[in-house]
Amino acid sequence: MNTLKQFINGQFVEPLSKRQLEVEDPFEGKIIASAPDGDEADADAALQAAAAAQPSWAKKSAPERASYLRLMAAQIRANRVELAQTLAREQAKIMPLAQVEIDFTADYFEYYAGWARIYEGEIIQSDRPNENIFLFRKPIGVVAGICPWNFPFFVMARKVAPSLLAGCTAVIKPSSLTPLTTFAFARLIEATGLPPGVVNFVSGRGSTLGNALVTHELTDMVSLTGSVEAGRDIIRASAERITKVSLELGGKAPAIVFKDADIDLAVKAIVDSRVIFGGQVCNCAERAYIHEAIFDEFADKLAKAMAKVTYGSPFASPSPQMSSLIDSRQLEKVEAMVSRAVAEGAQVLTGGRRADAPGYKYEPTVLAGCSQQSEMVQSEVFGPVLPILPFNYYDEAIAMANDSRYGLTSSVFTTNVSTVMQALKDLRFGETYVNREHFEGMQGFHAGWRQSGIGGADGKHGLMEYLQSQVAYVQY
Ligand code: NAD
Repeated sequence: MNTLKQFINGQFVEPLSKRQLEVEDPFEGKIIASAPDGDEADADAALQAAAAAQPSWAKKSAPERASYLRLMAAQIRANRVELAQTLAREQAKIMPLAQVEIDFTADYFEYYAGWARIYEGEIIQSDRPNENIFLFRKPIGVVAGICPWNFPFFVMARKVAPSLLAGCTAVIKPSSLTPLTTFAFARLIEATGLPPGVVNFVSGRGSTLGNALVTHELTDMVSLTGSVEAGRDIIRASAERITKVSLELGGKAPAIVFKDADIDLAVKAIVDSRVIFGGQVCNCAERAYIHEAIFDEFADKLAKAMAKVTYGSPFASPSPQMSSLIDSRQLEKVEAMVSRAVAEGAQVLTGGRRADAPGYKYEPTVLAGCSQQSEMVQSEVFGPVLPILPFNYYDEAIAMANDSRYGLTSSVFTTNVSTVMQALKDLRFGETYVNREHFEGMQGFHAGWRQSGIGGADGKHGLMEYLQSQVAYVQY
């Protein structure tokens, strides 16, 4: 069995906590590895290494820093299949999707390497005749990057690539459910010759190791991708030292289907957005509003398409569309939410139960008759369950879509360009997809409104998260 060690200051070391956690293969239901159950001492060792490495890392030119990101991309590409297999095994992600995540991550490192010669400071007009005002962009310092289990490899890169390019150093904590691919990457980093301490990987639980990273005096910024609850804890924990936080949290994305929509296209896009990785994706369509005139046709086609979603081993060929949910807790959460919805009067159009199959399988489910105020419409389910609600008027659809404590992503389906433009004006979400599935690009900016987060990731604006300004008034 694979027994992981912490990766601190360029070396694999035993956890100072001297404790290990078990890692499960969710589809097989077997323990496949153990990973450190790190604590305050591990956080301290990793942050000391990152802080010691940061000044000389920041002194390198941005193109030199970028050259390491390119080497990381090359290492990922050279090991792409093994990495995808590890990812597929540790979280029951179907192999084609695991491979996309690995390849996309290699692209992501290259993409941010490209920013080395692009990001700029500013020269600002002065009130004085013989003065220049310069705005420099400086690295924030030491970043604690805390990752979720659903895209462990890509989200790791989302924190490592912009941090390093900006001249920050990083300590990364994967979810204790999915540490394997991240630590496989740590082994590849050795081959890039990255100076020790620039990136450190530590494994452990959020409540212990994660909290220690957030509260430590050497942490200059916390970048969390995770649940609203973890975000709230981190805001509290970071308050003492006023540490900068960047939070990418949960979502409850609405999909609105207007009566002039291409129904088949909408059904396909919404099914794809709902069952990808078993619905365990922050930007997934989590609720749908359908114009009354097409509600019955849409519901029928949607239920049939969801019922046809294939399930099986992440390694099966041809690949199924879905495999196991991440663990028994997630399955129980989905099951309990559907039971409460049904008890409140929801009708199950398809699915509605856990299935007798290997892994933690919940059947792809469509629910009608949920009220706008119900838990099923207001809380993130993070499973293959979609409530659909009818609407009559444009304003009603927009009001129901916006009526959420989450504000991450949304989508609209219509063939009328005026409806598109009006909806883009009226929807209050960080991202909106038009006539397509929910999935963002690395050059965009993935940032949630309301309780879906503070700050964001990707593109130019994602890089800016890791930079702070210094303004100099130079009179001559
Ligand atoms: P989670 O909040 O349980 O855990 C995320 C990470 O935070 C883990 O590494 C965990 O150990 C750590 N953590 C938890 N509590 C902590 C604390 N008090 N202090 C420090 N660290 C702590 O989330 P999860 O179950 O791993 O991931 C699923 C959630 O992540 C969903 O809500 C999903 O919507 C969200 N997510 C959001 C995005 C996005 O880009 N907005 C992307 C992926 C996932």
